[in-house]
Amino acid sequence: MKASIITIGDELLIGQTIDTNSAWMGAELSKYGFDVYRITSVHDRREDILYSLKEATGKSDVVLITGGLGPTSDDITKQTLCEFFDTHLIINEDVLFMIEKMMHHRNFPMNDKNHRQAEVPESCRVLKNAEGTAPGMWFERDNTIFISMPGVPHEMKHLMEKMVLPELKKRFTSQTIIHRNIMTYGTFESKLADILTDFESGLPSNIKLAYLPASGIIKLRLTGTGSDKESLSKKLNDQVDILYKTIPEYIYAEDEESLEMVIGKLLKSKQKTLSAAESCTGGEIAHLITSVSGSSAYYKGSVIAYANSVKMQLLGVKASTIEKYGAVSQQTVKEMAEGSRKLFATDYSVATSGIAGPDGGSDEKPVGILWIAVASEKEVVCEKRVFGDNRTINIKRFSLASLNLLRKQIIKQ
Ligand code: AMP
Ligand code: MG
Repeated sequence: MKASIITIGDELLIGQTIDTNSAWMGAELSKYGFDVYRITSVHDRREDILYSLKEATGKSDVVLITGGLGPTSDDITKQTLCEFFDTHLIINEDVLFMIEKMMHHRNFPMNDKNHRQAEVPESCRVLKNAEGTAPGMWFERDNTIFISMPGVPHEMKHLMEKMVLPELKKRFTSQTIIHRNIMTYGTFESKLADILTDFESGLPSNIKLAYLPASGIIKLRLTGTGSDKESLSKKLNDQVDILYKTIPEYIYAEDEESLEMVIGKLLKSKQKTLSAAESCTGGEIAHLITSVSGSSAYYKGSVIAYANSVKMQLLGVKASTIEKYGAVSQQTVKEMAEGSRKLFATDYSVATSGIAGPDGGSDEKPVGILWIAVASEKEVVCEKRVFGDNRTINIKRFSLASLNLLRKQIIKQ
C-alpha cells in the first residue's frame, strides 16, 4: 500500500507557509498502514503540477493533493486536474447550493468567483466540504486514486476525517504499522549507532530502526509492519526489551516523554520536593519543570543566582569559595545546591554554573563549560560537562544535562 502526497502553492516553496498538511496527512496515512514514500511540494504552475501527477501515477495506490483550489486566478489546480484527467469543468448543483447557503448565512452576496467554486471536473466524485467553499475531488486512474483537497488545514482535515480516511480504510485491507519510541539521553548518535550495530543487524526484516536526534536527546523509533497486530506488537516488545538490556544507562522514557515529565512522575511517586539554583541556565530549568502540568505538587521554586552577590546573599555561597575557585566551579555549584535546598526546604535541589558563551571563556574554563550539582538529604553530587559555543543551544543542553543528573539521583535514592 503505497501513498504519496503533493502539496501545491507558491507560498510553500518560498517559506511563507510551512507545509503542515503533509506532516499531518503523512502521520494519518501511516497510522492506516500506508507506506508514504514521497512528499512533493510544487508551485501553482501547470507544468509542475502535471509533472508531479504523472510521476505519482502507477507508483502510488493513493495520491493526496492539497492546495490551489481557491477562487482566485493564482489557484489553478482544478483546471490542471481537468487537463490531466482529460475532462472539463461543470457546475455541481449540490455544491452550488451549499455555497449559496453558506454565503447567505454569512450575509455575503454571491459573486461569479463563488459561482466558479461550484465548478468541478466532470469525471470526479465530489467530496462535499462543510467547512469551506472549495469541495474535494476524488479521481481514479491506472490503479491510482487521486484525492484533491483544499490547502486550508482545517478544511483538509475535515475531508480526510469524514470521507477520505474511512473510505481508504474500507478499500485497502489494512496492514498494521506500529511505532515504538524509546527516548535516550547521554550519548551522541554515532556512538549509539556503534553500540547498536548488532541489535540493528539482528532486527527482523519487518522492523526498522530510526535515530531521531534533537538537542542531546535521541529518540529511537522502532517501526514494525505486519498483518497481525498482536504478533507484531509482541515482536516489537521483544526488541524493546533487548534495547533496554543493551543501553540501560541511556534510556530514560518511552513515547515522547521529556526528562522533566519523568522527573515529575518520580518526585510525585516518591512524594519528594524540588528547588533549583540557576546561574548560566537563567531559569530554563524552572521553565521546563513548570511546563509539566501538576508540577506544583513537587516544585517549590528557584533562585536565578546570576550575580555572585545573589549566590552569596540568597544561597549562602561563601565569598572565599568564589574567590578561591571562581563562580564556575565544583565548589561554588555545590554550595549553590546546598543553599537552595535549605532555603526552599526541599528534598532535592539542582544547581548550575557555567559559561554559555559565545564570550567569557578562558583556557582553564572554556565556553560551553558547565558545572552541575544535585543536592539531596544523603549527598551532593557534582558533574562537569563541556558543550559548544552557541549560547541558545548551550542553555538548552545545560538544562537537559542538569535534569538528567537530577533524574539519576532521584532514581538512585
Ligand atoms: P489554497 O487551497 O491554495 O487556496 O490554500 C489556502 C491557504 O491554505 C493558504 O493560504 C495557506 O495558508 C494554507 N495552506 C495551503 N497549503 C498548505 C499546506 N500544505 N500546509 C499548511 N497550510 C497550507
Ligand atoms: Mg494557493
